[in-house]
Amino acid sequence: MSTKYVFVTGGVASSLGKGIIASSLAKLLQARGYKVANQKLDPYINIDPGTLNPYEHGECYVTDDGAETDLDLGHYERFTGCPTSQANNITTGRIYQNVITKERRGDYLGKTVQIVPHITDEIKRNIKLLGNQGEYDVVITEIGGTVGDIESLPFIEAVRQLRWELGEKSVLIHLTLVPYLHASGELKTKPTQHSVKALLEIGVQPDIIVLRTEHDLNTEIRRKVALFCNVAPKAVMQSIDVDTIYEVPIKMREEKLDEIVLEQLGLPLNSDPDLDNWKKFLYKLKNYSKEVRIGLVGKYVELHDAYKSIVESFIHAGAVNDCKVNIEWIHSEELNKENAPAKLKDLHGILVAPGFGHRGISGKLTAIEYARTHNIPFLGICLGMQMAVIEFARNVLKMEGADSTEMAAKTAYPVIDLMASQHDITDKGGTMRLGAYKCKLKEGSKAYEAYGQKEIQERHRHRYEFNSKYREEFENAGMLTTGINPESGLTEIVEIPAHKWFVGVQFHPEYKSTVIKPHPLFVAFIKACLS
Ligand code: GLN
Repeated sequence: MSTKYVFVTGGVASSLGKGIIASSLAKLLQARGYKVANQKLDPYINIDPGTLNPYEHGECYVTDDGAETDLDLGHYERFTGCPTSQANNITTGRIYQNVITKERRGDYLGKTVQIVPHITDEIKRNIKLLGNQGEYDVVITEIGGTVGDIESLPFIEAVRQLRWELGEKSVLIHLTLVPYLHASGELKTKPTQHSVKALLEIGVQPDIIVLRTEHDLNTEIRRKVALFCNVAPKAVMQSIDVDTIYEVPIKMREEKLDEIVLEQLGLPLNSDPDLDNWKKFLYKLKNYSKEVRIGLVGKYVELHDAYKSIVESFIHAGAVNDCKVNIEWIHSEELNKENAPAKLKDLHGILVAPGFGHRGISGKLTAIEYARTHNIPFLGICLGMQMAVIEFARNVLKMEGADSTEMAAKTAYPVIDLMASQHDITDKGGTMRLGAYKCKLKEGSKAYEAYGQKEIQERHRHRYEFNSKYREEFENAGMLTTGINPESGLTEIVEIPAHKWFVGVQFHPEYKSTVIKPHPLFVAFIKACLS
């Protein structure tokens, strides 16, 4: 069977949850036995979001193959459990880079290179890449941005052309907002009508309209949208605000999104979607008997999206542990020795987040020292692990001024140092140690206990590493290397066995936690916080 395509566009406002709708549809189709891939097209000129400050765009999500991608790919993986790759996230920058490379190579044989057809052809080629792999029944492509933006025009034009070329085989879902006016007590459809008009002006007719709303939409409103936007009334559906994003697949099932998409794609409905495990997870999420407070220490805490995958991992791990995880957001720049006891004493666990650069470092070190000396379960991720090593060096091994060469190039004790493979690299984009690497666990360690297996694979995104020249000194003083890369010998995990639960990981476990498979380290961390 040839692959069918679904496109998801957004109108009226940004942040309406296109990624969640796309992920929910993928989940529903998967639950009916279909093989589905999600893809995100981002209309910015950065080649990938790896060089973006998290304040701009939230977390940078990393795939197994080392692609630095949009955080929506995290939703795709968490909902469907299917790993994504570089092919699942394309930006305007990458499209232009490919076209310009081809131009320089002479591939265009003297033609004038233009947005149409060269850029749009390259976009179409990238959309079809996943379909051409022959693995998927349906590819769901989400177009970032909002209809009407100058930036997204070439993408929508490419979708228009592709739909024409594909004939019957594609569906376009347009997600808009129906605002509620408190003063008059009315729900307004006009913005949706305008947004669909903007799509029509560029030659694209949506097949399904999903209306994001705070209040239930009655039949009359749905009929009105159907009438003005040329879609069948049953293809106008609501996406109502819910307590958790994980309820959206259930809500969209009630709206029959999956049935209507399959019908329009000419695919059989198969059996009813098997959502048993999903519903079990949702039940656990809502019916917990315990609660824990975890301090998340980082420098981007004003923007929770900067730590999206960590937050979601806690939700998954909480549900398994029959427990609600309440995150206390602690700004690393506002934490110091004086206020640490007041801010940290009531926490059941402390997580020190990944990051770059020296801003907020001293607060992170303070949090780690507090966790270590007060036997509070601690999980350090990437920079968080590196800081745990530095804290231990300074306060236990008495290596005064011990540091990472990222923060202090001339430190007398470079306990965290630039990886040898990084020495000659000057470019910032896509040049870190990225993607999945193997790690061998030490039997008897907390990590081994959590994973229940000797060899694991986790995703990385860093330039610096634990300096193995100090390994023996650390081990003798009580901080052990319990996870090691079998090929390079790099330290991937450190632990303090004398502590209740003190684990620092150089990799990012949060990228691999899904609803159906919560991450073992997060599960073990929450368990330790509960004990
Ligand atoms: N800045 C550190 C490094 O590059 C840690 C990176 C991270 O936390 N992702 O090694």
